[in-house]
Amino acid sequence: MINVLIFGAPGSGKGTQSARIAQTFGLEHISTGDILRKEIADQTSLGILAQDYIKEGHLVPDEDVVAMLEHHLEGKLGKVKGFIFDGFPRTIPQADALKRMLARHDCEVSIVLDLNVPEDELIRRLLERGKISGRSDDNLEAIKSRLVVYNNQTFPLKEYFRKEGTLTPINGLGEMDDIFASISEAIDSVL
Ligand code: ADP
Repeated sequence: MINVLIFGAPGSGKGTQSARIAQTFGLEHISTGDILRKEIADQTSLGILAQDYIKEGHLVPDEDVVAMLEHHLEGKLGKVKGFIFDGFPRTIPQADALKRMLARHDCEVSIVLDLNVPEDELIRRLLERGKISGRSDDNLEAIKSRLVVYNNQTFPLKEYFRKEGTLTPINGLGEMDDIFASISEAIDSVL
């Protein structure tokens, strides 16, 4: 199995690029943000628990997100060509949990893409998206909180994967096609 992780701050374009990666490489796209928004729309117990965290720009607790992911991977691990994990892991405990889940099926993380975009550009993109996205967290207050959470909780994961030799920096500025070309080249190199 090929398991691709994509890191990037909110607004870095990881959702858009992940959808293209899934299509081009035949991988299953797992976006924890999308799954959580669906849970909220359906007002499930997880959705009701998650909605305030999301609105405030905070992370949903690890144990809830890990259980949700386990449920989504169940029956698929080892059977599909691979996954693109978009928005997971976001904390060290989530990364440990993912590694354990993959290891149980003799799988591992193949590559970690690190999509880099300067903070002023992230804020500009998110505010622009907020005009049409209807997302509860695309407003300046929640955006600032999401960036703080990213820098404090998710940024340290880069070192974690750098040590494992899987971290691959990608310039997230410029044309979407050019960014995707760099990503494709990086994934091709581990196929
Ligand atoms: P973005 O990266 O632009 O913030 P996402 O759709 O990936 O967008 O995530 C939106 C929100 O969903 C996050 O701010 C967080 O509240 C919640 N979320 C998504 N993935 C996770 C995760 N792995 N752990 C905890 N919370 C998560």
